[in-house]
Amino acid sequence: MTETTSYARAQQQLRDRIRGTWAQQPLYIDEIIRSGLTENQITAIRQASQETEDTGLTHFLAIIPGLRVRGYGDWAKFTSEFAFDMHEASGQKQTLVLFSEGETSARSFAYLVTDNGPVVPTGAPELMKSSSDDFIPVELAVPYYLQVLVAAAKGTEPPQAPDFDTRDVGDRNEDYIERFGLDNSDPDTLVFGATTVAALGAALWLLRRRNRYSWRTELTTKPELVASRNLKKAVAEAAAPIPEPVRPDDETWALYDRGRRIQDALAALTAAHPDWAESADFAHRNGVFVLVTLDRWVRRQLRRRSGRAEDEPRFCFLFPHHRKVVEDHVLKQSGRSLTVGLCADCREQLAAGHDPERLMVPKRPGSTRAVPYFHRDDAYALSGFGSFQPLDEAVLDEMSPQRSAAGRKR
Ligand SMILES: [Zn+2]
Repeated sequence: MTETTSYARAQQQLRDRIRGTWAQQPLYIDEIIRSGLTENQITAIRQASQETEDTGLTHFLAIIPGLRVRGYGDWAKFTSEFAFDMHEASGQKQTLVLFSEGETSARSFAYLVTDNGPVVPTGAPELMKSSSDDFIPVELAVPYYLQVLVAAAKGTEPPQAPDFDTRDVGDRNEDYIERFGLDNSDPDTLVFGATTVAALGAALWLLRRRNRYSWRTELTTKPELVASRNLKKAVAEAAAPIPEPVRPDDETWALYDRGRRIQDALAALTAAHPDWAESADFAHRNGVFVLVTLDRWVRRQLRRRSGRAEDEPRFCFLFPHHRKVVEDHVLKQSGRSLTVGLCADCREQLAAGHDPERLMVPKRPGSTRAVPYFHRDDAYALSGFGSFQPLDEAVLDEMSPQRSAAGRKR
């Protein structure tokens, strides 16, 4: 028997067991793990199920063993299709379905299902982790997810995420993005997503979800930018002298100085990374793209004889080539927040409970392990492509030989 068929058979058997119980009652706890759960855990699960029933909403809850033979995508398909079937069987307008692993950690799949299909009320609820990077234990995860689903179904305020930080606060060693929880589940997004998600058929939804999340493990390879945005020519053009202002007031001279700094930053970046156009690290070409866009903006302003000044171009924090209506967006978790520029598409995706695609780069030079660019500690991460400080400033601080010699104060 191949691994695939034995896995499929195990899944089918699990499905049959759950389905048999759900025909009688909403709570299924797999026999394989029941003996491993404490009294407290079972009580918490039962209570949460009862409280959900008391709201008048229809729910199904399965505490299942982890089947780790295959990847996460398969679980998403299995649980979301199962959830949709249960919704059809329930005949209700809304059906809440929650699968939680009951072993060492409660990896969970939570669905609010309507006739339009199952909706996951967050970017990555199946991997809900605490701020200390532990998985939430089952006795906290189950009540929390059920409350999230109830709030989403009723359009009411979501519950606070469980506070499960076991770590000494004074002993943190994270970068600022992790500290602000950008890469953790965002409880604000959780419920916002569930209540606002657009109507999609289940099959279409699954397809989109699989496509959408493949970027998580892969280095960014597109958009390629060098040819499509003619970046080499733009770099050459940016080396031409910055035009002296037509209107020689202080403000315009300040812009002129900024133009010189952008020019220096572009020179520093391309000298520090002469392979920027071919590198597997797409942060460099995104950096060049941002700097030449700023360079062109400065030149346009300096040549302008009349008319309104153009606002400085902004770039999406998650993927700088996104340019559609970039606005400030507050990313929040557990009372902490981080303001970044986000494009309209990424804001919409967050609102729909999805994880927008990010610029994925090698963890360190030469590495094939992909991480979001802001998990590193370089000029791009420090700038957020303009969200935290202008990219030209960050690049000059990090890459220019003169500035580096003057001493970095970090
Ligand atoms: Zn974006």
